[in-house]
Amino acid sequence: MFDLEKLLRDNIRQLVPYSSARDEFKGEAQVFLDANENSLGSPLTKWYNRYPDPHQWKVKEAISKIKGVPPQHIFLGNGSDECIDLLFRAFCVPGKDNVIINPPTYGMYEVSAHINDIEIRRATLLDDFQLDLVHLENLVDENTKIIWICSPNNPTANSMNRQDVEIVLNNFPGLVVVDEAYINFSRHKSFIQELSDYPNLVVLQTMSKAWGLAGLRMGMAFASEAIIKIYNKVKPPYNISQVNQELALKALEEVDQVNDMIRQLVGMREALARELAALPIVRVVYPSDANFLLVKMDNARGVYEDLLKDGIVVRDRSKVELCEGCLRITVGTEKENMELLEALASLR
Ligand code: PMP
Repeated sequence: MFDLEKLLRDNIRQLVPYSSARDEFKGEAQVFLDANENSLGSPLTKWYNRYPDPHQWKVKEAISKIKGVPPQHIFLGNGSDECIDLLFRAFCVPGKDNVIINPPTYGMYEVSAHINDIEIRRATLLDDFQLDLVHLENLVDENTKIIWICSPNNPTANSMNRQDVEIVLNNFPGLVVVDEAYINFSRHKSFIQELSDYPNLVVLQTMSKAWGLAGLRMGMAFASEAIIKIYNKVKPPYNISQVNQELALKALEEVDQVNDMIRQLVGMREALARELAALPIVRVVYPSDANFLLVKMDNARGVYEDLLKDGIVVRDRSKVELCEGCLRITVGTEKENMELLEALASLR
């Protein structure tokens, strides 16, 4: 049975969170002398002398309208990377607890685990890049706090079978994090509408991919109100800057433009996949639900280095388990994709 209170670290359960000036006073006032800001202003225009809304309500309301999830079920982090790290800090006791990842997968789950001195257990994906449920189950013990599932997965580009994820959600009494950074490029449905069915589910999304805002640093976690309350308890008080909040709000008005980019990128991904598959050095272009392709080719490392000489940088995954001989290639602009294909065609 899932018991959030029991799952939590003792020190976090007992934690009295920092209460900021903006937390303590929420009413209307003309004179703000409560937060030791610079009352004269700032070298920049507007209100950057003031601390931002610690809970980013306006941004959450805009996200809520788009995603159909109430604002109290949303946490915003400085990139998903902050959403990942805070879960370790809230739930995993250093030197004692463990989490499970399904490699090959996004590297920050492991790095964050190491930073927090948490044991990593690996249920390597099956040859078809799907979850190995038997291995996963065997790795769970009473100190297993989180299972990290990336879907669509980086770097394999596929989505995990929905039924497999549901089996994990139904049977694992700890947190199940489904990282959907690439969900907008996928044919498959998000888990974001299933929060009421699974009290142990955390869905991660980000504005870094489909929204085109990797420079902004805006990660989103969707979960039960109880989990979001824990996030809020452990987060730095003003983790999303005023500038970030303003720009995110502005971007969130442009859903149509973003949907248009997603459609274009998916079309370009399919075209690029076809063209790559036709090259003699290419062995396999794996099906992709993301904005990148995993491509197995002859002498992948050599190809990587040759492309660099042409000023084209892709990601060498050729030494990663299950990705031997593979490069990971982001879908570029039409021109960039053309340059890549020409460079690859000229290799011998
Ligand atoms: N999750 C996955 C699967 C990713 O591939 C990435 C970035 N490459 C992230 C999370 C991090 O996203 P953010 O920019 O929001 O920190």
